[in-house]
Amino acid sequence: MTRVPKVDLHVHLEGTISPAMVTHLAERNKTKTPPGLIKEGSYNWQGDGTARGDLIAFVHAYDQATSVMKSAQDYTDITYDYLKRSADEGCIYAEIHISADHAAQVGLTYAEMLNAITQGYEKVKKENRIEMRLISTCVRHYGPEAALKVGKITHDHPHPLVTAFGMAGDENAYTAADFKSAFDASGLPHRTAHAGEAAGPESVRAARDILKIRRFGHMVRAIEDPVLMKELLAINAVPEVCVSSNLCLHAFKDYAAHPLRKFFDAGLKVTLGSDDPTFFSTSIGREYDIAQKHFGFSDDELKRITRNAIEEAFVDDTTREQLLNKLK
Ligand SMILES: [Zn+2]
Repeated sequence: MTRVPKVDLHVHLEGTISPAMVTHLAERNKTKTPPGLIKEGSYNWQGDGTARGDLIAFVHAYDQATSVMKSAQDYTDITYDYLKRSADEGCIYAEIHISADHAAQVGLTYAEMLNAITQGYEKVKKENRIEMRLISTCVRHYGPEAALKVGKITHDHPHPLVTAFGMAGDENAYTAADFKSAFDASGLPHRTAHAGEAAGPESVRAARDILKIRRFGHMVRAIEDPVLMKELLAINAVPEVCVSSNLCLHAFKDYAAHPLRKFFDAGLKVTLGSDDPTFFSTSIGREYDIAQKHFGFSDDELKRITRNAIEEAFVDDTTREQLLNKLK
């Protein structure tokens, strides 16, 4: 694996739960590991090989795996486990999507979830290897009302580690305009939204124009529209590129078809993310390796990607300086 310091700028906390952790939590919480979910230590969620079939299978596995989460301690353990694994691969900074909706499903308040995540982080931070910030994220397909609620909860419980508001979920649900109030309600200075993954260039345009997004979750399908590509370059847009996720969920059929290299060569401020790493059998280290092996990125170019991520990270300037110093 390349020794270049890495940054994971797009990852969902629940998407980092490992099969071993699912088994462990199921035992601790006196519930069953969902039958068929894990095979030989890996998630076994492959659908029928079609985009639709595989997406349904993935979402089902995700719901099954996270259904074993029952307590604040589970959030602490999952956070620690992910951060430790990432730090072991040379990741110096991670920005994690967290979901108040998911906390509610576990039976926790947003504040309880935050407290639990912070405890997992504090444990890793003692070793002084990795920094973390959080993005409070609404789920698009839960609808505008639920999203607004997340925005308000985020606003009412300010936390030093929560530095941005985000939107994930089914990009084809509702319109961008339906979620403007949720972003505004959060009162946070930074924002990102999933756009240009499951939907095309029009979704990126809507996120940019209506939600005022400049740092996009994915953005990869902007490649379909040369005019949009020029506009994105002009605003120095930042794509959070998650190659394994894109391939597993059929945004592109193979590495050759994926626009990572084209984005970088065009001058876009490319960053990398692991998205839901354990479900895509990946990690941030592996994503950097894929960039090197399949897209021909040199160590210097990978360093450029890490620098991009630090420059665009939702952190204060002191932390940004400290992280940039680790690149020297
Ligand atoms: Zn994502």
